[in-house]
Order: sequence, then C-alpha cells, then structure tokens
Amino acid sequence: AKAAGRRTFMRYDDAMDVVVRQRATISGALRKVLDRGELHLVFQPQLALAEGRITGVEALLRWNSDEHGEIPPSDFIPMAEESGLILEIGEWVLREACLTLQRWRQHGLTDLTVSVNVSVLQLLRGDFPEVVSRVLADIDLPPSMLELELTESVLMANAEHAAAKLQSFRELGVSLAIDDFGTGYSSLAYLKRLPITTIKIDKAFIGDLTHDPEDAAITSTVITMAHSLGLNVVAEGVETEAQVRFLRDHRCDEVQGFWLSRPLEAHACLAFIRNWRPGREQ
Ligand code: C2E
Ligand code: CA
Ligand code: CA
Ligand code: CA
Repeated sequence: AKAAGRRTFMRYDDAMDVVVRQRATISGALRKVLDRGELHLVFQPQLALAEGRITGVEALLRWNSDEHGEIPPSDFIPMAEESGLILEIGEWVLREACLTLQRWRQHGLTDLTVSVNVSVLQLLRGDFPEVVSRVLADIDLPPSMLELELTESVLMANAEHAAAKLQSFRELGVSLAIDDFGTGYSSLAYLKRLPITTIKIDKAFIGDLTHDPEDAAITSTVITMAHSLGLNVVAEGVETEAQVRFLRDHRCDEVQGFWLSRPLEAHACLAFIRNWRPGREQ
C-alpha cells in the first residue's frame, strides 16, 4: 500500500512537473511576446441607435505569433491568467487603448469612449485603481473617455470588495460596464448595488433573437429593467438587420457586432468613425 501510495505521489509529482514546465514555456513565450511587440489591439465600433452616432469602441487583444501564427484571445488569455502575466499584458492593453484614443482625440474625436476588458486578477490586485489613474494621467486622457468591462463572474468572485473597488473607479470618472450579461448568475437586483453605468447583453442572446421567443423575451426584459435602473444597454454580437430592428424597437441604446463592423486595426477604425454619417445604417 505504501509503495502504491508513493507511486501515486510520484505520478502526481511528475504531472505537476509537466504542468509547471508547460506554464513556464507558455509564460516565457508570452513574455517574449510583449518584448517583441507581437501583441496588438483591434477596435470594434459601437453605434448609438437613437443618435445614429458612433459613441465608443471596444479594444480587443490580438496575438500574431511569429512561430504559431494568429492565436485567438480565447486561447491565450486563459494562459496569461494562469501564469499571472495577464497583469502585465492587461496594463499594456490599458495603456495602448488610452494612447490610441488620445491620438484620435487629436484628430477631433472627443466624444468617444474606449472599452477595455479587465480580467479577475487585475481587479483583485489592490492597486488597480491607482494603475488606471496613473495611466490616464501619463497619457493625459480624460477619464470619461475610458470604460472598463468586467464580467459577472469577475464581480461574483470577490463580491465584498467589488462594490468598493468599483466605487473608486467611478470616483476617478471612469465608466463601468458589465460584460456578457445574462451568462452568469448575478441578477439585476444585485447589480443595482454596484456603481455601474452599462450592461452588455451577451451575444448568446442576440444570435437567435429574431427566431427564439425566449431570447427575445430575455433581451427585452433586460433592456427594460436596465433602463429602470438608469443603466445604458449595449447589445453585442449583432449580425443582422433584423436584430437591429428588434433592438431599435425595444429601445436598446447601442449595438456592437459584425453588422456594424468587424474589429478593425486602429487606423482603419479611425477612418470608419470619421467617414460615418448618421442615418447611413438605415
Ligand atoms: P468579449 O469581451 O465578449 O468580446 C467580444 C467578442 O465577440 C470578440 O471576440 C469579438 O471579436 C466578437 N464579436 C464581435 N462582434 C461579433 C459578432 O457580430 N458575432 C460574433 N459571433 N462575434 C462577434 P475576440 O476578439 O475573439 O475576444 C474574445 C474574448 O477574449 C473577449 O470576449 C474577451 O473576453 C477576451 N479578451 C479580448 N481582449 C481582451 C483583453 O485585452 N483583456 C482581457 N482580459 N480579455 C480580452
Ligand atoms: Ca458606451
Ligand atoms: Ca468585452
Ligand atoms: Ca462580451
């Protein structure tokens, strides 16, 4: 029994060793990535339906690896989270997104926000509000031009601290959005207690909106309830004209998705916004 136990232990140990080595390779690769400049951001515009105006963009991370080609964020962000490198990468994303918006501001785009995705590790670190405030000050970007996107699970993971943390962002003047709304377990009643400004309805509800009465009911209910709480509502993953019509009829504030535009390189996104004319979408 002792030998078997020991064998089990060694097997576990070996397995751990492999895991540790793999992580080291991945984080090594990811670390080099930051140095080599293999990461870049793309930007996806958001359209305010009532005004017909582009009011914001979401910054989305891309890794173009010399060795492995284009790697989707759904693959490398979980790795970056496991290795802790998401802290460095996340700060790079924040800085790069703010720098881009500052450049666009100099092209006359002042009435625009950039939304940046925040991972749980970033929110958990005690000094994240200071990091955000320092980046904004360094770049001299008005805080009102930045929105942080947090998922429900990120907030639920540390519910006690979430409210206080979020309050410090609001005091900075930064907007706060709940991402992927509807996929977690939080209710609008819970969110009511958090100082958030925007809800992003997950694309899982939008995809079948015009065919599935349940998704339609959920979407229209979320819009109505969010409005009664004074929150702004963005629908993400909007791909068709029919979806836009539904969302417009149900007073959704903003849409984001392939229907409007795919995520674009910074220069292309700037051109897209500058060429946009209200009414063009109708
Ligand atoms: P997300 O925050 O929900 O971002 C929206 C995702 O939906 C993006 O995928 C975007 O390209 C995609 N999308 C946009 N419009 C449409 C549409 O009409 N139809 C469909 N089917 N998809 C659409 P992407 O860029 O692959 O990003 C995947 C996820 O990776 C993001 O989901 C986010 O959770 C994470 N992510 C991306 N960039 C960052 C980052 O800088 N930091 C962190 N922590 N996470 C990030
Ligand atoms: Ca917005
Ligand atoms: Ca997002
Ligand atoms: Ca989302």
